[in-house]
Amino acid sequence: MTARVLDGLKIRDEIFAELRRQAVDLYLQQHVRAGLAAVLVGDDPASQLYVKSKIEACHHLGLASWMHTPSASSTTDDLLKLVDDLNRDYRVDGILIQLPLPKQVDTKRVLEAVDPAKDVDGFHPINLGKLVSNRPGLVACTPAGCMEILRRNQIPIEGANAVVLGRSDIVGKPMALLLMHANATVTICHSKTRDLPDVVRRADIVVAAMGKAGYVAADWIKPGAAVIDVGTNKVTDPAEATALLKNFPRRLEKFHAKGSVLIGDVHPDAINAAGALTPVPGGVGPMTITMLMSNTIKAAKLRRGDSTAPPSPSPDTQKDTAQQNTTPSAAGAR
Ligand code: NAP
Repeated sequence: MTARVLDGLKIRDEIFAELRRQAVDLYLQQHVRAGLAAVLVGDDPASQLYVKSKIEACHHLGLASWMHTPSASSTTDDLLKLVDDLNRDYRVDGILIQLPLPKQVDTKRVLEAVDPAKDVDGFHPINLGKLVSNRPGLVACTPAGCMEILRRNQIPIEGANAVVLGRSDIVGKPMALLLMHANATVTICHSKTRDLPDVVRRADIVVAAMGKAGYVAADWIKPGAAVIDVGTNKVTDPAEATALLKNFPRRLEKFHAKGSVLIGDVHPDAINAAGALTPVPGGVGPMTITMLMSNTIKAAKLRRGDSTAPPSPSPDTQKDTAQQNTTPSAAGAR
């Protein structure tokens, strides 16, 4: 039997429609236009593309956005100063530091300098701590997106055996915590886990976030299990692509035309074993930006829970600055 495909693009559109309504309500009720400041250091083409799509998503939802592009030679101190300015700028609800930062920069220090109330990536230790203790806060976007995929497809989580492959701070650990808070029984696996196939075979829900193309074999998947494939691995080796896609001639043809293909951590043949599965691409990928937008609106709401907060400028006033690479002025700072 072929698995139900868990379409991330469809869920993104659904959530975007909800977020657009929330953005309008926020403006009508509180005169607030939620805004995201993106910091893109240097000129890495992949990072430029990611930030561009995040800014486009803001435009699409009517959120304000600012793009800051410090040079590749920026120091830790330069970036700490910029983060400090953004922390103080009242108009900015979310701060996104596009990774990776240049080698000379202390990434941890820069990320930890972001005001936890504006940490829309959910990377700050304060937000991780809130997640551990199941208190409201900003949750890392990719795992939050995986939960949306499960919930919006009515995949039962409570009481399920969930296996998370990977224990990174940005995907594996927060994913495991979110599943645990949703009352799954969670096993976290990593590179030292013994008998991985046997552990995976017991899972009703598998979340794969390892960064290894097609590593999770189809016969590891319990028949009917839900599989969330976070991995996005670019395969360029023809022999590897042929081995992975031997049962998918159309995808293989595309690989030969293009010279590369995106493969998840789960072998493509798992489509014939799982009950439900996220495709790569088009599954988890679109959810990351979606949840970044959701976190920006959430941060705007949480911050305005403060009754002393001054009103934001109207959307029209902000429009003039939103598309420019401006450093927000201290005038709006509190
Ligand atoms: P990461 O920091 O490299 O972590 C990889 C994790 O996988 C580690 O915990 C590692 O274990 C574990 N691992 C590696 N080999 C293993 C093996 N043979 N058996 C069991 N566990 C193994 O990666 P990440 O940042 O979490 O990302 C994981 C994947 O998700 C990557 O492909 C990344 O591109 C993708 N990703 C996608 C999105 C999206 O939007 N779709 C977002 C973020 C990440 P150890 O801890 O023991 O080393």
